[in-house]
Amino acid sequence: MQIAIPAETGDTRVAATPETVKKFVAMGHSVVVQSGAGFASAVLDAGFVEAGASIAPTRAEALASADIVLTVRPLAEEAISELKEGAVLIGQLAPYQNATFPALAAKKVSAFAMELLPRTTRAQSMDVLSSQNNIAGYKAVLLANQFYPRFMPMLMTAAGTVKPARVLIMGVGVAGLQAIATAKRLGAVVEATDVRSSTKEQVESLGGKFIEVPMSDEEKAANDGVYAKEMSDDYKQRQAELVAKHAKAADIIITTALIPGRPAPRLISAEVVAGMKPGSVIIDIAAEAGGNCELTQAGEVIKLDNGVTVVGLANLPGMLAADASSLYAKNLLTFLSLMLSKDGFKLDMEDDLLAATLVTHAGEVRFGNK
Ligand code: NAD
Repeated sequence: MQIAIPAETGDTRVAATPETVKKFVAMGHSVVVQSGAGFASAVLDAGFVEAGASIAPTRAEALASADIVLTVRPLAEEAISELKEGAVLIGQLAPYQNATFPALAAKKVSAFAMELLPRTTRAQSMDVLSSQNNIAGYKAVLLANQFYPRFMPMLMTAAGTVKPARVLIMGVGVAGLQAIATAKRLGAVVEATDVRSSTKEQVESLGGKFIEVPMSDEEKAANDGVYAKEMSDDYKQRQAELVAKHAKAADIIITTALIPGRPAPRLISAEVVAGMKPGSVIIDIAAEAGGNCELTQAGEVIKLDNGVTVVGLANLPGMLAADASSLYAKNLLTFLSLMLSKDGFKLDMEDDLLAATLVTHAGEVRFGNK
């Protein structure tokens, strides 16, 4: 089989690395990489060639005879038109927004959206949301550090004592947990909150303090799953009151709350931001999904008149492109190994991981029709 790696538009990451190319080649497949595809991830064309890939000067040439195409972001319509009919496409295809599924179906593409992978033990090594959110959580703390005009740790110097930064993390999924661990490593005092009360233990095991919004047993039961559910207005009110109190005392707030397929929940109002101290910083990892903070502007850093900085920069994993690509590429290699072997390619529709992620197949859009 021929596997193609196009250069991404609007992303610094790449969907294969020399390490994964070597594995595909060892299985007897050929890999073609669009020239420059790895540059922003610190992989030169020569690195791919050394691993056994060939280089195509343009995207159209890379895609023309590819049986399998690996991407980070959804392909643009123009790129879809360059695909071979019946090709396999694997990547983060933004299934809840993607308008290109009809075009993929028209080309009879078998497209897999990696965001839809079930969160099961078997899927862990292929879980792109985990590998990328982990990086986002780490980078969020470093970004906060960049915009925060003070030290993170407590310092005792001859010129006086510096208090440690108080960091509030909202949403304790993969990104939130890594943010807690990173902020602790830098010496901050960390508090965290989540609608899933099962996260309390995880926060405490990392040395953070869990802020618990009072919940009824019914609410707790509704939120004991893997993903958070949209909360009632009553819960939101209780949460808002508690957040307002802790936000006032916080120097840095990192928000990571997401609900799959829905806009990010609004956790910090403009009024709460108005009550924060000058010099404090909000890093909104959910900026691309609409933001957890009312004042977030996706892709922007805004400094407000009260001295608070609101950071809505997008694609935090892309800021650590080399490691983000390396982990992402390994996720895809493991996922593709469910179908690809030395003996060729076989799509087993009974496999729960493949069935859950397959969004277009045999001329049909399957996502939303299941
Ligand atoms: P996510 O990115 O979907 O959301 C981030 C966090 O925000 C979640 O913890 C969520 O509960 C929280 N949140 C949502 N609405 C909120 C609100 N209104 N207020 C406060 N917090 C809110 O989460 P994720 O990182 O993808 O992790 C989701 C779950 O998947 C976790 O339980 C995680 O342990 C699990 N997981 C399982 C696997 C696996 O077994 N393969 C892999 C990774 C993650």
